[in-house]
Amino acid sequence: MTTKYNPQEIEKKWQDKWAADRLYETSDDNGNPKFYALTMFPYTSGDLHIGHWYAMAPSDVHARFKRMQGYNVLHPMGFDAFGLPAENKAISTGINPYVWTMKNIENMRRQLKSIGAVYDWNREVITCLPEYYKWTQWFFLKLYQAGLAYRSEAPVNWCSNCQTVLANEQVVGDGECWRCDTAVVKKNLEQWFFRITRYADELLDFSHIDWPDRIKTMQKNWIGKSTGAEIVFGLDHEGVETKEIKVFTTRPDTVFGVTFFVLAPEHSLVPQLTTPEHKAEVEQYILQTQRQTEIERTSMETDKSGVLLGSYVINKLNGEPIPVWIADYVLPSYGTGAVMGVPAHDQRDFEFAKQFALPIRVVVAPPDWTGGELESAYIEAGSMVNSGQFDGLPSEQGAEAICDYLETKGCGKRAITYRIRDWLISRQRYWGAPIPIIYCNKCGIVPVPVEDLPVLLPPDAEFKPTGESPLKYAETFVNTTCPQCSSPAQRETDTMDTFTCSSWYFLRYTSPGVDDSPFDNSKLKHWMPVDLYTGGAEHAVMHLLYARFFIKAIRDVGLVNFDEPFTHLFNQGTIIYQGDKMSKSKGNVVTPDDYVNEMGADAIRVYIMFIGPWEQGGEWNDHGIVGMSRWLNRVWNLTLADYSSKGTDPGAEKALSRVMHKTIRKATGDMERFRFNTMLAALMEFTNHLGKVQDLRAVSELAWQEAITNLLLLLAPTAPHLAEELWSRTGQPYSIHNQSWPRWDEELAKEEEITLVIQVNGKLRDKVSVPVSITEPEAKELALSRERIKDCIQDKKAARIIYVPQKLLNIVLE
Ligand SMILES: [Zn+2]
Ligand SMILES: [Zn+2]
Repeated sequence: MTTKYNPQEIEKKWQDKWAADRLYETSDDNGNPKFYALTMFPYTSGDLHIGHWYAMAPSDVHARFKRMQGYNVLHPMGFDAFGLPAENKAISTGINPYVWTMKNIENMRRQLKSIGAVYDWNREVITCLPEYYKWTQWFFLKLYQAGLAYRSEAPVNWCSNCQTVLANEQVVGDGECWRCDTAVVKKNLEQWFFRITRYADELLDFSHIDWPDRIKTMQKNWIGKSTGAEIVFGLDHEGVETKEIKVFTTRPDTVFGVTFFVLAPEHSLVPQLTTPEHKAEVEQYILQTQRQTEIERTSMETDKSGVLLGSYVINKLNGEPIPVWIADYVLPSYGTGAVMGVPAHDQRDFEFAKQFALPIRVVVAPPDWTGGELESAYIEAGSMVNSGQFDGLPSEQGAEAICDYLETKGCGKRAITYRIRDWLISRQRYWGAPIPIIYCNKCGIVPVPVEDLPVLLPPDAEFKPTGESPLKYAETFVNTTCPQCSSPAQRETDTMDTFTCSSWYFLRYTSPGVDDSPFDNSKLKHWMPVDLYTGGAEHAVMHLLYARFFIKAIRDVGLVNFDEPFTHLFNQGTIIYQGDKMSKSKGNVVTPDDYVNEMGADAIRVYIMFIGPWEQGGEWNDHGIVGMSRWLNRVWNLTLADYSSKGTDPGAEKALSRVMHKTIRKATGDMERFRFNTMLAALMEFTNHLGKVQDLRAVSELAWQEAITNLLLLLAPTAPHLAEELWSRTGQPYSIHNQSWPRWDEELAKEEEITLVIQVNGKLRDKVSVPVSITEPEAKELALSRERIKDCIQDKKAARIIYVPQKLLNIVLE
């Protein structure tokens, strides 16, 4: 063996030994308190890049730190393995998605192992394997039986490029597909949904979890709770059976200001309410709307458009007939798909009224209003006018009075609405968990019996660019018999959104290999909920919301006994490279393999943690990693150099002890707060101090040994291979990763103190004990804040302050 730091040699050696010794296998209960540290599992794209390392390596450092602190740490890893890229690959190359995915997993597992993390690979979870998706299907059936999964026709988001529907949460930016950025259009389709709306209120309750405010706000806005009233408008149109139409408003106080009524162009009553003279124009407008995205439709920037239907509804509060329009800014999916137009008090309605010269009637008067025309909608509170019996009331009070009136007259009621819609989980694609449902001509929708699970994906499906699911053409898959009446029947050919699979994977880690249930109950109870979940913030209203819902849903089915999956959440920042977020699609990916081969995993680990605060991320550059590699070399040389004392200097020993205890204190606090960059800065300072100690050789061999031992222990979570090698070479018992995190002594960490004399006009007035390192501004601030000094100064002012470092401070008064 060389005496030179050679990461290529030592990293592989220790990884093999740790695996052979099963060092990181987690027992379910070793008597220590449990700590479940979960990192979002990667999608099986084929390669890990440095961006993945940025999610994985610091979380491993923290898990190792908790281990050394005496926790029984569960830190598992797995693969989010279903999804569209595998299927697209199959269409373009003919390689089966299963083959492609498993090959990718093999490569990614090798890359993950090169990080040198404490993953217990016995617990690995792969969502595309039947042993896993059997249970995804089983959960679906549980939710179906509980009425939490249902099938319904609804206007849904369609991505023409991905050839599938998307959940609302997967429509991002300006109404684009989250995966491929194609503009999403609406389609009416029969689809499967999970009833997430039933949990809207509970999902707004964050009181039991410690999550970043940013994520909580995003979820809150997405759920979008608003309080107001549902108001019934009368309808008396020839040939239409419905005699009323409901709207939701957050402003019942403005109902006397309604001057027009708008339906979403997709509203089911539109054809019947369109009079013959408006028919052509209405049909033309509906076609035009279908070509627009949701964002285009609701943009405040564009001119408002719309057409009259020729029919009227009745405002029951004042008996006025109100003309009915359709306009694209009203979406079918929000509220009832109908809006009462109050141009004086809603900006969009105001613009619509201006566009079509409709009356704008003020019903809530601005404070200094003299009856003139408004420049824009007045949306604040005010005094009610033009509102019959409610005139003169302050509008907040008026809203309550109108709600009371509506309720007594039976033409409306107080109501709450939510922006969130049920989670659409059907995907018209092959590479997902098949929805375990059979359609029978006699029995209707029949769930697949539990004993027939899993419903396996047919391996012989053909992948062609037809735009339809290959399952539709897989006859052996589609054709089956009804489990109830044994007549010929057809299977559902939609598969589940892959976010269903990722809504419960963390439960499976607790019970690897269990094959008669999704998890072992006692193990689940022991490990859940997850103590710390780390991953990207981009999952705020997708995975992180779905997983919260899923746990609440299966709790209500009686499967788990907790309410929230993830107690504490931490979102890491992103790694920037060449001025952009590192991503495969941008082509600016740094592949870790070459760096591992050249400089070692430890150098990458240390470098990405030093790049900036973990939640902020930072910019990757090659000079930086070279610098970190040099520091590790320095640690290597320092540790292995022969040290012999020239004689013990008590001052030098005390100074070394102080630096060491201060470093332990700083590193511990920083680890707890994920401040890996400042933790490393402290370790580097410690190394510098050790370098000086080594030059002077004025401390005992024992003191030197103790300092080196602690340096290695502090470095062990961050550079696990290097620390293990040095631990072994300095004669310590295997393994450093079974040692306890070092403790500091507050007394020894304390700075040396001196007595600072404080004078006023040259006379001794006070004495105070201060750290030897106190700066001039700190000393001045301290002196002026002392009660005895304040008494001497009274209302006079200090003309100047003379400071003799580490001795005295003299305040000269005017
Ligand atoms: Zn797409
Ligand atoms: Zn049947």
